[in-house]
Amino acid sequence: MLRANYNWSLADRIDPYYQRYICGDYCDLRIKVVITPLTCSLGGATGNPWSNKGKKKSPVNIQITELPNLKKARPWYNEIDSTVLQQNLRRLDNAYNNFFQKNRGFPKFKNRSTFRSFTYATGVKIKGNKIYLPKLGWVKFYNSRSIPDGFEIKSVTVRKKSNGYYVSVRIEDKAVPTYPIKKAEEVKTITGLDMGLGKLVYCSDSSAIDNPKLATNPKTKRLQRIRQRRVSRKKRKSNNKRKTQQRLSRFSHRIAVKRESYQWQTAKKIVLKSDAIAIEDLQISNMIKRCKPKYDEKTSDPALIVGAREHASRGRFLKNGQSAKRALNRLIADASWYSLTQKIEYMAAKSGKIVLRVNPRHTSQECSVCHHIDPENREGEKFFCTNCGHVDDANFQASINIKNKAINHYGLNIVKKVRRDLPKPKQLTLFETPTSELTENKRRKHYALLSKRDVPGNLKEYAFQLSLFNQENNHPDRDSL
Ligand SMILES: [Zn+2]
Repeated sequence: MLRANYNWSLADRIDPYYQRYICGDYCDLRIKVVITPLTCSLGGATGNPWSNKGKKKSPVNIQITELPNLKKARPWYNEIDSTVLQQNLRRLDNAYNNFFQKNRGFPKFKNRSTFRSFTYATGVKIKGNKIYLPKLGWVKFYNSRSIPDGFEIKSVTVRKKSNGYYVSVRIEDKAVPTYPIKKAEEVKTITGLDMGLGKLVYCSDSSAIDNPKLATNPKTKRLQRIRQRRVSRKKRKSNNKRKTQQRLSRFSHRIAVKRESYQWQTAKKIVLKSDAIAIEDLQISNMIKRCKPKYDEKTSDPALIVGAREHASRGRFLKNGQSAKRALNRLIADASWYSLTQKIEYMAAKSGKIVLRVNPRHTSQECSVCHHIDPENREGEKFFCTNCGHVDDANFQASINIKNKAINHYGLNIVKKVRRDLPKPKQLTLFETPTSELTENKRRKHYALLSKRDVPGNLKEYAFQLSLFNQENNHPDRDSL
């Protein structure tokens, strides 16, 4: 029911989108409001775009005020909690705003497999290992973490995953102060991070964090291939196919869980390093793009019309390196740098530290010593400056560059680290006044050395060692050996 509601509301918003951008915004002439068909095609009593205060209603609010009408027309919608229906529409609104403001994809119609969650705003209670979901009743669940005293439940999301249903609870306590955020002036230490594939993270303090390659190691790849093959060999729409499909998705779910946990641990380690963390502002979706298709000019036939037979007119496909790129894409996707940076940001915010984003331009080509930029500086994992001859590991070089960029860009005054393990400089005195203690020690040392040489046993050992190399049989204890 929620999915039907979601899809219907999406269609409700798509129509004006096309009207506005293709046919002009004629809806706007009469009512002058952000258009939804509720205000133009239906436009009845509840389609009133003005709120009581005389302000324009947002599209999501118009759709929410329409909900009672939906319940009248389709009484079975009374079985759904009203806040769940409202949150369902807000979710669509979020997806819609992300498309316009954050350059995300246009919201899609949901099918059974892509519509997996719903959210409660109020009315949820938790008692021991039971949770009360309005209109569903008390449900048994595994209480993994109890809610601390003083916190109240803000919203609850029920999510279907491949191995069961999960519930996540958002809680709030207004008495708890927010975490203090460091200002740029207060930053004393900074670590630059370079994300890589050989190691997951290269830090500017010349430490690195391993890349576990959870989904791309040979063992997992083999298992995944076998499971995938089992799925594809089953008859379509059969129970057996469904079951094997479930096994496969449980398998990838386990990998995802492991990756999440590893990333949290990594994020914590990194955040503990310094006051601020500098990271590259990468566009990973650009890195995973497919290679453009290449065509063979020789076999192309100019007589064929471009259009319906576009490929034929351009000739045969040539190798474009996509098969090699695919493996790299999978490695990049497995490393999932973006979700790692998100976790680092979360952990940093929690511990009052800041994450600084840096333009990734030239970070792998610049020399950190003389700041000479040359694409020939880098050769695979090696870094060799063509200007000053500075040699380093290319990845650590990049992390130092990121750190320096952040310092320059945000105007930080970093305290240089003082090595504390160096011994204190000895005070020089012109004349060392001999104390009795000093002379006594000297004498003892002197005699100790002398006595060692005098012990005949030492000489014996010495002779024996010689004999090993010389192969001479003049050792006194030869027979006993
Ligand atoms: Zn250099």
